Amino acid sequence: MNHKANIRIGFSEFSRKIYSENKNKVLNELNASENDWNDYKWQLKNRISDAEELLKYTNLTREECENIRKISEKYRFAITPYYFSLIDFDNPKCPIKLQSVPSVEELDDKGQLDPMNEEQSNPSGKITRRYPNKLIINVTNACPMYCRHCQRRRLIGNFDKNTSKKYIDESIDFIRDHETIREVLVTGGDALLLSNNQLENIFNELSQIDHVEVLRVGTRTLATLPFRIDDELAVLLRKYKVNVSTQFNHACEITPEAVKAVDTLVDHGVLVRNQMVLLHNINDNKYCIQKTNEELHKYRVIPYYLFHPKDVKSTQHFDVDISKGLEIMKHLEGRTSGMCKPTYVYNSPGGLGKVPLVPMENIVSDENGYVFTTWENKIIRKDFKK
Ligand SMILES: *Cc1c(COP(=O)(O)O)cnc(C)c1O
Ligand code: SF4
Repeated sequence: MNHKANIRIGFSEFSRKIYSENKNKVLNELNASENDWNDYKWQLKNRISDAEELLKYTNLTREECENIRKISEKYRFAITPYYFSLIDFDNPKCPIKLQSVPSVEELDDKGQLDPMNEEQSNPSGKITRRYPNKLIINVTNACPMYCRHCQRRRLIGNFDKNTSKKYIDESIDFIRDHETIREVLVTGGDALLLSNNQLENIFNELSQIDHVEVLRVGTRTLATLPFRIDDELAVLLRKYKVNVSTQFNHACEITPEAVKAVDTLVDHGVLVRNQMVLLHNINDNKYCIQKTNEELHKYRVIPYYLFHPKDVKSTQHFDVDISKGLEIMKHLEGRTSGMCKPTYVYNSPGGLGKVPLVPMENIVSDENGYVFTTWENKIIRKDFKK
């Protein structure tokens, strides 16, 4: 039996049917055109962001609606009409829905707001620095859609706000003054919510610093607002040789619209890598992770990380045990292309950095040497160097 065949993919007839039905409903409700739909500014302006609005499209009960309203007072929600239209409302565990529509489980207060102590690793401006040679600048707190599993929830305020010029300048000054910084990650929020002009100003300043060799942007627009990606943006990213890190968590997010955005970037010579988050009920299944990474590979996105979820307040219902992640990694070995195999990492609490996680039996040692387990569970040995 082909277990992978049960995983919903964004290109299937089933997914396309859901999408076009939902899309037509939204277009009718908002009295909008196909052109509006493909305009990312229209998508942002028409985000679904209050519980009453959800009632128009779904069969939510009054009580569910009231719960969502309560949660959204604490943790706001906003969903682009595009991402919203991917939801299969007949499936209570639809991965798109679980990632975008608030759930009562968010009212559980276990966990921390800032488990990685990012606030403490802010030396200047809007920087997070945990490593000598690379750092992050947060250029905005806004995202097209507010992921329910977001690990930086504390930064998502009640208003979308780009970082002030003063903080950006301070951040760039800090980088200029620290010659060990080789790589700068421009992220947020979602870095691509800045205008092309704002982005160009930042890239241009950073590119004039000799010791900064590589720029990277963090964006989830490929999954949540693919219409943001156009030729002009791709040319800009290529000009400054900016790498793109994105986040697809499930194969059903990899739609023709998302792939068009990927193609625009890759055809212009921009490298795109995926940082997936392991999430309970969404993708904590070996066939799902395999299929999702194979879809990414097929459409030229390189699987980069599989993040173990962090201990962030109000996201505990997405938590998974490490043993599950290790089982998934063990499964991928030998069963799919090496190009489809991300590095599974745990982000240490307290800002101590990322730790790669590999199945425990992969490599152990005894008094004579190393003992390895192959993908088919054959044991092999390699003696210490004499
Ligand atoms: C993850 C992270 C980076 C980038 O790490 P890579 O392993 O190079 O992707 C840089 N700075 C901080 C603070 C990070 O958390
Ligand atoms: S796109 Fe990233 S920063 Fe924004 S809400 Fe989602 S996970 Fe959080």
